[in-house]
Amino acid sequence: MSETQTRKNEKPARSLNFIEEIIEEDIRKGKNDGRVHTRFPPEPNGYLHIGHAKSICLNFGLAEKYHGITNLRFDDTNPIKEEVEYVDSILEDVRWLGFDWEKRLYYASDYFEQLFEYAVILIKKGMAYVCDMPAEEISASRGTPTRPGKESPFRNRTVEENLALFMRMRAGEFPDGARVLRAKIDMTSPNMHMRDPVLYRIIHTSHHRTGNKWCIYPMYDFAHGQSDSIEHITHSICTLEFEVHRPLYDWLIREIGIYAPRQIEFARLNLSYTVMSKRKLLELVKENYVKGWDDPRMPTISGLRRRGYTPDSIRNFAEIIGVAKRDNVIDVSLLEFCIREDLNKRANRVMGVINPVKIIIDNYPETLVEEMEAANNPENPDAGIRKVPFTRELFIEREDFLEDPPKQFFRLAPGREVRLRAAYIIKCERVEKDSVTQAVTAIHCTYDLNTKSGMPDSNRKVKGTLHWVSAPHAVEVDVRLYDRLFVVPDPDNAEEGKSFKDYLNPDSLKEVKGYLEPSIRLAKSGDRYQLERLGYFSVDPDSTEKRLVINRIVPLKDSWAKTEKKN
Ligand code: ATP
Ligand code: MG
Repeated sequence: MSETQTRKNEKPARSLNFIEEIIEEDIRKGKNDGRVHTRFPPEPNGYLHIGHAKSICLNFGLAEKYHGITNLRFDDTNPIKEEVEYVDSILEDVRWLGFDWEKRLYYASDYFEQLFEYAVILIKKGMAYVCDMPAEEISASRGTPTRPGKESPFRNRTVEENLALFMRMRAGEFPDGARVLRAKIDMTSPNMHMRDPVLYRIIHTSHHRTGNKWCIYPMYDFAHGQSDSIEHITHSICTLEFEVHRPLYDWLIREIGIYAPRQIEFARLNLSYTVMSKRKLLELVKENYVKGWDDPRMPTISGLRRRGYTPDSIRNFAEIIGVAKRDNVIDVSLLEFCIREDLNKRANRVMGVINPVKIIIDNYPETLVEEMEAANNPENPDAGIRKVPFTRELFIEREDFLEDPPKQFFRLAPGREVRLRAAYIIKCERVEKDSVTQAVTAIHCTYDLNTKSGMPDSNRKVKGTLHWVSAPHAVEVDVRLYDRLFVVPDPDNAEEGKSFKDYLNPDSLKEVKGYLEPSIRLAKSGDRYQLERLGYFSVDPDSTEKRLVINRIVPLKDSWAKTEKKN
């Protein structure tokens, strides 16, 4: 099945969310001639995370639903933090999620000239001025939400003087930080964003797209709304923290006199047991707490992809969580539920053992190799069958045997029978132990020939079914087992004197060996499997011809819920 195939069949039967209600009302009223045009506007200062995925699914999803279009626009107004690497990764991630911006790939930096013209309009109207106060003074004079700010001594410069200074700023006559352009609004406004916000600053740094053409750069707040306007976006969907910026965006659009998109805010996605701010994720990468932006423990799209998440599972997650007007935290186990549900239908089963103990079937011919037929995916008859070699010596999971089991233990124990998946029923006869440690080194069993598929007792029932691997055929692989990256649900909320990094989980990655059935030799990087009873796994790009490396995406069941109670 292709990654995107299931998507068209998904018809979410749910009521409209508040954004859809707004859009449908706009369409009904014939606003914008019924057009729906959204955009996803990342700043290329880091890799995208699952929160961005939510925003991508929302913007592209709404356009799809209302026969509209979506732009991808880089809000690249800060040359200091932005890099081409991030641009490339963002393009890859949006595409991988299954969305297509067609020819509509834009950059705020494409509009620098236009934005400059807008600033000139404001200056000419007496609505913007050049201020010579250093950044600290500007911020000190801004006041607090309860105390009004103080007007800049440069506020009453003439239009001519402002124009001349702004041109000289552009011409590179002043060093970084010497002057800024500010909007002339209201230093007593209860909304801090309206207290003469900075519109342009001087930064003598080369930009990844415009090179050295500019040494003044628009602030995000001056670029964002105007870029939406230039692109004739109908619905500018953004996260709640921009609600307080909206009066400023409206003011700018009105004073410049250009088309006004409608801004709608929704609550950003927060996920338990992780952090989501790009700044914090960058810290984890730079300080080597993880192996890179695509470390499978990261909440980045590239990390989730490498871990083995499918685009469908992430889109489905975004749909299930819906859009909220208030901040909330989504339990990461919901994301895990979505990948399990998807892979249950999609991933072929293989058998493998992570912590092996040897089984010797004493009454099985020493040199015989039988090819057992196993269903590739019982949930999907089209997935077919494969052959799994069965021999006298097998591995099973060490924890599937107990010498002295409690009553409710239905796996292997002395004198007890279990079925080996797709093979025989075996009975435990005796164990061999290490004379020093007393650890079990081999379990001697007998098998019942009549219990194989096609034999008279093939339907005989026993309580336990175990996965196994033929010892001489087992393929040794490196297995990476992941746990939560943080040990607390809300690492952002660090105690005083602590940082989010103090809550990193030291056991978030365990590297062990696994022994898999030989069909795994055909696996390629990116393939996903269910290892029977152990979980869903993906083949990591670190794999070589000689050695496979597999990531556990999730265990089969939400074992975390149980552990949490135990602690
Ligand atoms: P961060 O705060 O993680 O650094 P950001 O908001 O600075 O992210 P941008 O590149 O500006 O990142 O975000 C691009 C788009 O993604 C914006 O429209 C933003 O509102 C949206 N977005 C970012 N984080 C989330 C989130 N956690 N949930 C939903 N949408 C988000
Ligand atoms: Mg941002």
